[in-house]
Amino acid sequence: MKNLHPQTQLLHSDRQFGTEHAASHKPIHKSIQWAYQSAQDIADTFQNKRSGYTYARGGNPTTAALDAQLNMLEGGIGTVTFATGMAAIATVVLSLLKSGDHLVASQYLFGNTTSLFNTFSAHGVSISYVDSTDAASVAAAIQSNTRMVFVETIANPRTQVSDLKGIGDLCRERGIVYVVDNTMATPALLKARDYGASFVMNSLSKSLSGHGAALGGSLTDTGLFDWSNYPNVFEGYRKGEPKNWGLLQLRKKGLRDIGGALSADSAQQIALGLETFFLRVERASANALKLAQWLAQHPAVEHVDYPGLPNHPQHLRAQQMFGANGFGTLLSFTVKNDAKHPFEVLDSLKFVMMSTGLGDNRTMTLPVAQTIYAEMSAERRAEWGIEDGLIRVAVGIEQIDDLIADWEQALA
Ligand SMILES: *Cc1c(COP(=O)(O)O)cnc(C)c1O
Repeated sequence: MKNLHPQTQLLHSDRQFGTEHAASHKPIHKSIQWAYQSAQDIADTFQNKRSGYTYARGGNPTTAALDAQLNMLEGGIGTVTFATGMAAIATVVLSLLKSGDHLVASQYLFGNTTSLFNTFSAHGVSISYVDSTDAASVAAAIQSNTRMVFVETIANPRTQVSDLKGIGDLCRERGIVYVVDNTMATPALLKARDYGASFVMNSLSKSLSGHGAALGGSLTDTGLFDWSNYPNVFEGYRKGEPKNWGLLQLRKKGLRDIGGALSADSAQQIALGLETFFLRVERASANALKLAQWLAQHPAVEHVDYPGLPNHPQHLRAQQMFGANGFGTLLSFTVKNDAKHPFEVLDSLKFVMMSTGLGDNRTMTLPVAQTIYAEMSAERRAEWGIEDGLIRVAVGIEQIDDLIADWEQALA
């Protein structure tokens, strides 16, 4: 299977681990309990001496099949899935940092992640927000107690592209856990492991499942981090090879203790979406590039943010990192002052959905400052480049001429 394209592997991987009644899909396992034939068997299962399930909060055969598929996509040594992307992010911080530690995070993070990190700062983890497009600004923020750096590959909504390689080199030199939220880029565009990520986080609610019908999140351990000297691994998890310690702790804390488990139904829904993952991202990225190019030349449009446009500040980096696979599915733009009011433009759309989502088959748009950034102060928004008139477009897989026609009549 290894030399096959990952899309081919996704379609055929379930059968690699043995089928159930020759089924082509991994079935949905609704049981939350498992029963064993002997006391020795249940004892061995609890002690990880034989493989098996004990209670569904720690995973079930349907989520395990999805874990394996995501792990293949990201090239990891193990992947854990969660009920949501936020549960995955909460787990990586809660299980690997403790009070007194320092976290360096991108200043262009998904809004809910920033809000979550503010909760952790109330619990004693100090946080510095830096410009992740520049590894030097990450370097300048590192302190003796810095244990983790957290960035996104492509930021939402303004599509800044992080210097994944520069930051990865820095983290490796300093022995810092490097977490990359790759949700906006997805493994169809790039593997964060190639840039030195210790963990790759994905929201499965977006392009990986694609249909806007299931929530989920994942953390993949790339096997690159050496846990032997990491101070926050509990004694009980310092067992076996050190490269597995981090994932073991994360699984026990995130699933068993915190309880952020993904349901079997959602795991199967996400796995169905994965069957067309590369097709969908290729199509939506191609659409996004064409729409961005079309918007950029429209007389009513002020500016367009899209990594595939030559005037994007990180266009060359984007080209090197992932351009050959597409420039992503997200863009944002502003309209000129003398043009229609942005709300009026959005209200004129015929089929493009006004919706908070992204990574869906359907194109979705929204005014950014007044919705997902409404909780943030106006000064902070200005600092982060969230202008009042900013419109975000999460591009779907519609026929491109239809998509352009809808924006054309809305901007007219
Ligand atoms: C959506 C999203 C998340 C959170 O994922 P959920 O599955 O919605 O909890 C985290 N990071 C990014 C970049 C996202 O787009």
